[in-house]
Amino acid sequence: MTIKAPKTVQTENWQGYKNPVWHKKDKKNVTILYNMIERRKSFFLRAYMERNGYNYVDLGDHVKEDVQFGREWGTRMQCNPIYFTAGAIIRNLLRIEKETGLSKEKIVNDYVFLGGGGQCGPCRYGMYPQEYMKVANSAGFKDFRFLIFNSDIIQDPPIPKEAAFQFDVGFKVNFMLSFILADFMHIAECALRPYAMDKEAALKTITQCEEMILETFKSKLYLFKLPGVLRKVGKILAAVPRKDIKLPQIFITGEIFANMAHNDGNYNLRRFIMDEGGEVLPGIFSQRGSYEGWRRIKEAERKIQYAASPKEKRYWQIYSFRQKISYNLVKKAYAWLEKAIDPKQFGGKSEMHDVAELAKIGDEHYNTLIFGGEGNIEIGEAIYYQDKIDGFVSVKPFGCMPSSGVSDGVQSKIIGMYPHLNFLSIETSGDNEVNILSRVSMMLFKAKQRMKEREMGVKPVVDASNLDIITTCRE
Ligand code: SF4
Repeated sequence: MTIKAPKTVQTENWQGYKNPVWHKKDKKNVTILYNMIERRKSFFLRAYMERNGYNYVDLGDHVKEDVQFGREWGTRMQCNPIYFTAGAIIRNLLRIEKETGLSKEKIVNDYVFLGGGGQCGPCRYGMYPQEYMKVANSAGFKDFRFLIFNSDIIQDPPIPKEAAFQFDVGFKVNFMLSFILADFMHIAECALRPYAMDKEAALKTITQCEEMILETFKSKLYLFKLPGVLRKVGKILAAVPRKDIKLPQIFITGEIFANMAHNDGNYNLRRFIMDEGGEVLPGIFSQRGSYEGWRRIKEAERKIQYAASPKEKRYWQIYSFRQKISYNLVKKAYAWLEKAIDPKQFGGKSEMHDVAELAKIGDEHYNTLIFGGEGNIEIGEAIYYQDKIDGFVSVKPFGCMPSSGVSDGVQSKIIGMYPHLNFLSIETSGDNEVNILSRVSMMLFKAKQRMKEREMGVKPVVDASNLDIITTCRE
């Protein structure tokens, strides 16, 4: 009997898709569609687009429908962030087709997509760009062009010189500043939303501050002008009237997308907790940026140690040197702008952790050199925070391989050591919101009790065999 190939086989899936170059001569005829995990990061990146004369559409936040589009057009059994990010692309391409009446060929000609490659762990390396191309091609947008950078902010394979968009130093600096500025506005929301006398007025003030910062960032002299506008913004935010109340402190961690989406990608988790009477420690993306640099430096150290030739050793030494520059640059730029906005004056908690210290704390329970989805950092955070906060949420995307090992696996041991840690592990699948948020409400209820106990000086019970662990890792 001869076996026939099924009719539905898409051979491009196995042979690879084409990603044609967007040429400089077409720069003015093409529009960049882009988004960056959550609204504020893409909002500030508009400044770069405008200064450099690109036509662009900021796609903003992820929405619930993205996960459905991702599932419908994407490959089965992917993790939730792939569904959300690939789904947003196809949702928007189909929307543009419907709203403009343009043919699919014309859309392929007139638009490109810019975004991160999503490589948050070793598990799905390379899958994001392929998946983006898969959904676009499957929906009929044949050879749609993608500008996808990995966490080194380079496209792989490299973009040729004649391309209209380069991942050059200018873009890298602007991308870094965009996420730092977005962090400060997120810190402001975490500080004011639960405590403001008038929540809506406070949120409106934050939006006005975002506009002020963007206008300044659009200037060619932005490096000189940003500290000045941040000083003004800091004072405006400090003038927002606050209630004199105490709220339980909640810390959220987990895989980068699920932790930092601040939109439907994680059920708007931080906003939900704040609106239900908790204070949430901000999810600082710049810290994730510094983790990325630190992780790569560690990786390079190992490669240097085991290099098979002097040439290979030299390669990793140069790589390590470059990573140290970018690691320090993120920290220095963050500290420089933090000084200008001075988040303490409006109650903002902006301290970044020293990721090397966190790694040390967690290393005994989860090897620091296993770099999947920043798992070792999450263990360090749980130990560090066990006696400092009232609730600890570990967010894991549906289908996430490293996060399953950490949230459901190693963290069980940590809870055994620190039974008072009000720990909750949740899985973001894009749906099932009511169930997940009701579990979060239960955690918050316990957190309120825990806060009272802390105020009354009730000492937590700790497994005495683990008391030698250092818990002083704030910079
Ligand atoms: S770490 Fe998890 S969410 Fe991230 S790519 Fe890997 S499996 Fe997906």
